[in-house]
Amino acid sequence: MNIQAVDTYSIAVPLHTPFKTALRTVTVAESVYVKLTCSDGTIGWGEAPPTHVITGESLASIQYTIESILKPVILGKRVIETERLFENLHQAAVGNTSAKAAVDMALHDCLSQICGLPLYQFLGGYNHSIETDYTVSINTREQMAADAGQYIDNGFNVLKIKVGKDDIEKDIKRIEAVRNRVGSEPLIRLDANQGWSVKDSIYAIQKMEDMGLNIELVEQPVKAWDIEGLKKVKEHTFTPIMADESVFSVEDARRVLQTESADLINIKLMKSGGIYQARKINQLAEAYGVPCMVGSMIETKLGISAAAHFAASQRNIIRYDFDAPLMLAEDPLEGGITYNGCHILFSSDNGLGISNIQLEDILSQQT
Ligand code: MG
Repeated sequence: MNIQAVDTYSIAVPLHTPFKTALRTVTVAESVYVKLTCSDGTIGWGEAPPTHVITGESLASIQYTIESILKPVILGKRVIETERLFENLHQAAVGNTSAKAAVDMALHDCLSQICGLPLYQFLGGYNHSIETDYTVSINTREQMAADAGQYIDNGFNVLKIKVGKDDIEKDIKRIEAVRNRVGSEPLIRLDANQGWSVKDSIYAIQKMEDMGLNIELVEQPVKAWDIEGLKKVKEHTFTPIMADESVFSVEDARRVLQTESADLINIKLMKSGGIYQARKINQLAEAYGVPCMVGSMIETKLGISAAAHFAASQRNIIRYDFDAPLMLAEDPLEGGITYNGCHILFSSDNGLGISNIQLEDILSQQT
C-alpha cells in the first residue's frame, strides 16, 4: 500500500482568552493540517502549529517544507515500511520539527488504521484515559489567583503556572497568591519557559520550598542551551526540575540524561519531529530512570489527539499537559479525543479517529 497524495491546508481558530508565557502571547491558534491519502483509500491527518520562538518555524515555512521537501520523499512509498519511511523523513531536512511532526502524525494515523487499532493501542496501549493539567497564563497576581481558582472549580486537579516574564520576587508572590486561593490540595507545577537566570532559579525555588508552597516541579527555568545551568539548579534544590526547550532531539535527551541535568523531560511532538522520534526519547529516558511528561504547543484537537494517544500508550510517561483545545473558542473538527473535565478519553475508532468528511467541510470553508 503506497502513499498516493499529500495535501496541506492552513487554518486559524481564535482563543477565548489570550495565552501568555515568558516567550509570547497568542490570541489565534494557527496551524497547518496535512492530509495523507494511501492507495487503498486510507486517509491520515496531521497538524503543525507555527511556534517561532521555540522551533523557529512559521506557517509558510511549515507548508513549504511539507509540500516541497517532505512530500517528494514519502510520495509513492510503502506506508508499512516504517523504518525506511521515518528515516527518510528525518534525513530530508535539518530542524523543521513541526513540519516533520505533522507528516509523522498522519503516517501513524494511517498505520494504526491499517492495523485496525486506535493509535494509542497500536503504540502500546498502556493507559485507557489520562488526566491533563490546565495552564494559568502570566498576568497580575490577582488575575492569576482568580484564574487558578476558576480552573480548580471547573474540576481540574493540576495547575501549570506560567512564570519567568518579570522580576523573580513578583513570580514568588504570584505563586503564593495562587496557592492561597486554591488551598493545599491541587498540584502546582511551574513553567518559566527559560525566563529565569540560574541564580534566580535557585533562589526562588529554595524560597518557595521554605515557604511550603509545595511545588510539584519546575519546568525549563533557564535558557534552553544552558544544560550546565539546568544541572546546577537541579543540584541546589529539592523540587524536581524538568527539561522542555532543552530537549528537542534524541541527541539532546542523551546529553541531558548522561549529565544528569534534569529529573524529568517534557516531550512534545513539535520538538521531536513526531511520534517516531518521541518514542526513542521516552525509551532512552526510561533507561536512565527519568520519567517524562508529554505536552503540546497551542494546537487544535488534531495535534493534541496524536500527542495524547502517544502519551497514553507509554508506561514511562506519567504527566500530561493537553489543555490547548480547551482554550479555543471553536472546535474545528469532529472525532479524536474527548474531554470529560480534566480526563481525556479515547474512542474505539481506528487511528486518531478523526471524522474526515466533517474536517474537509471545515477546511474548504477556511482555505
Ligand atoms: Mg514548557
